[in-house]
This record gives sequence, C-alpha cells and structure tokens, in this order.
Amino acid sequence: MRKTVNESPGQREGERLFLIKPGELTLKGGNRGAFETILRRNLRAALEVRAPGARVFSRPGRFYVVCAGDQGEQVAGILGRLAGIAGWAEARVAAKTVEALGAACVEEGKRLAESGARSFKVEARRSDKSFPLDSYGICCAAGDAIRAAVPGFEVDLKSPGGVISVEIREKAYVYSLGKKGLGGLPVGSAGRGLLLLSGGIDSPVAGILMTIRGMGLDAVYFHTPPYTSPEALDKTARLAETIAAYAPGLRLYAVNFSGVQKRIQERAPAEWSTVLLRMAMMDAASSIGEKRGTKCLVTGESLSQVASQTVENIGCAESRARVPVLRPLIGMDKEAITGLSKRFGVYETSILPYPDCCVLFSPPHPVLRGSLREAGRLYEALELGGPLREALETASLQVFRKSRGT
Ligand code: ATP
Ligand code: MG
Repeated sequence: MRKTVNESPGQREGERLFLIKPGELTLKGGNRGAFETILRRNLRAALEVRAPGARVFSRPGRFYVVCAGDQGEQVAGILGRLAGIAGWAEARVAAKTVEALGAACVEEGKRLAESGARSFKVEARRSDKSFPLDSYGICCAAGDAIRAAVPGFEVDLKSPGGVISVEIREKAYVYSLGKKGLGGLPVGSAGRGLLLLSGGIDSPVAGILMTIRGMGLDAVYFHTPPYTSPEALDKTARLAETIAAYAPGLRLYAVNFSGVQKRIQERAPAEWSTVLLRMAMMDAASSIGEKRGTKCLVTGESLSQVASQTVENIGCAESRARVPVLRPLIGMDKEAITGLSKRFGVYETSILPYPDCCVLFSPPHPVLRGSLREAGRLYEALELGGPLREALETASLQVFRKSRGT
C-alpha cells in the first residue's frame, strides 16, 4: 500500500497540482477517517485509469493531486464526477516566505484578470501559525501586490469578480477559479443498489443521484427482442458506461423479458399490461439483487409523471419487490430531471430514439389506479415462475470495471 499521510505534496518541474476539498464527509465526526479512506481509494482508482502516474496526497481536510502537465483535463474530468468532493481548484505552490507568496498571488491575479474578472478579493487561511503575517496581513499584502502589478484590477470586498484564495499549510497554496464538485459521500460508503435502467432520461439520473449519496450500483435492463432493437441494448450499455464513471465496477444485466411479456399479453387484460410488467420487473430485479447482494432497488419513477407512476400503480409494482425500492426522483419534475441529466453528461445518449419495451407495449387505456388486490390476483394468474426463471438464467452481463468516462 502506498503511504498517504505525512508525505509532502511534492511537485516536480512542469507538474500541476490540484487542491481538493472533501465534501459532507467532513461532518461525519468519528467516521470521517473511514470516509476519507474510501474517497482516496476512489480517487486513486479513477486516476489510475485516466491519468496514470498522477499522485494523491492527503492532509486533514484537504487532498492534493499532482499530475503531469498534460493531464490536467483528465484530472478535472475525474474530480467533477467523484462523489464526496465539495470543490477543487488548480493551485500554485509557493515557498512559505512573504516574497514568494506575493509573487504567486500576482501570477494568480493576472490569470484571474485574463479570465475576464474586473475586480477581486483575497481570502486567506493560515494553518501554519509560524508564517510571519496573519490572515488579515496576508490579504492586505497580496491585495497591494496584485493591484500594483495589474493596472485597473481593483479590490472589491462586497461583490468581487473573483476570489483569490491563499492557504498557508505545509506550503503556501494560491488559487482562484475554483470548481464546485458533486458533494455528497464517496461511493462505497452506503452499500450497493440495483438500478432498473431503461433507455430513458429518468433512470440514469436516479442512479447517479444515489451514487452521490455514496451508493455503489449495478444495473438491470429488461428488453424484449426482436421487438426491441439491438440498438436499444447498445444505447443502454452506453448509458451504463457513463453511469460507471460515477459508480466504478458497475455490472449491467440485460434480461430478455420476451417470454414474460408474451405471457402477460396472452393472459392479462390489455389495460393492466404495464402494471403487471412493472411487477414482474421488480420480482426479477429482486432475484438478481438477492444473488448479487445488493441492498435495494433504484428506479427513475417520479410521482404521476405517466400512468404507471400514480401512487396506486407504484404500490402495485412495489408489492413484488423483496428489498426496499428507492426512488430519488419521486418529487421532481421533468425539467429539473432533464437539467440534471445534462449536467451529469447522460442526456445526449438518453434521447437517442430507440424505444424500450414499456413504450412498445403500452396499452391505449392503461389502468390509472390499480387495486393492489386485483393486481395480485392477475399477477398470480400469469404463473410467471417458468418465464422468469428462463429470463434470469439467460441474462447477459457486462462489467464496466474501468470506465473511460466521457
Ligand atoms: P425512464 O426515463 O427512466 O425510462 P420513464 O419516465 O420512461 O423512465 P417508465 O417507463 O414508467 O418511466 O419507467 C419507470 C421506471 O421503471 C424507470 O425509471 C426505470 O427505473 C424502470 N424501468 C422501466 N422500463 C425499464 C426497462 N425496460 N428496464 C429496466 N428498468 C425499467
Ligand atoms: Mg422509460
């Protein structure tokens, strides 16, 4: 195992340094060490794939990544997708002298001014109390140096165009233009769930939201070839690959539900077909979860978004689940979900036009408020034991161990 604590964030000529603020995990008191260990492990695993050779260092309340000069973009891509990070910035490192710090602040001031900011403010934090200036003194000295070096770039304490941050720790760090991270908790700190992944907009967002709460994910996709096309399966695999950038090691189970679908069409009233299909999905997904050891199911349902998502119909579907069902989107509207889909980088794939089985087989007049008792009676009459067993036995599996991300 590599040493992590007490190493100096050493930076060689031409290398870049990113300063990372862990998120909510700083609130977790006694558990903080465990959360940080998981975050560090996730960070290392992602860097190994996309920025090999990059190094991770940790200090109380801070992580640092040092990478080669041409790896900055990859590192930024990773930091933007890693749950448990509140924010990060590329930082300049200076020796702990007033002169060296002033010079670094001037360089950062120039960069900030070039990015379009018209005014600035300096914020300083001094954990090393042996530094000759206190926080206020640092702000004044840095502010004066920047104003003198960048004509017209003025201090504005109330609404600055940009903030230049100074942290005096084992070295002096100077940064601006920080980025917001996903926040939340590191994946692997909250068990593992099984995402019911369709080809739509909602379920990928639901899955990613759970990863931001620290949950690892597997996914199951139900398809009905030849009615659903190979392109629909490819599309779902692409979605799974993107989700795997947030949930490393994601396994995608593709389950052929043609037999189940056929039985529903043969034996059930058409208006019940979608509700019964959902019940069968919950049943099959519970079996996969039991085998794989996932603790819950995750769906992209949002209350009353479509006929199958009334509270009654959700209740019918859930009656066949044997583990808790989590629905992170239940109270969100489509616009908010779409916004997240774009932010998470899944939207472009989600809107590719290959319909899944729910769309293909949805009846013209679906039951809106299915009675639980009636649903149970109809479901039993389907005698799905055989078709479900066959579907599960022939499921295919793809593992996204090392996602390339996007
Ligand atoms: P999505 O945008 O995620 O497809 P949706 O708005 O189309 O959702 P429904 O089709 O009613 O809504 O599906 C509700 C939820 O059921 C989905 O979010 C997903 O979790 C699950 N689901 C639906 N179809 C499938 C499928 N073919 N395979 C796996 N899960 C599915
Ligand atoms: Mg759908």
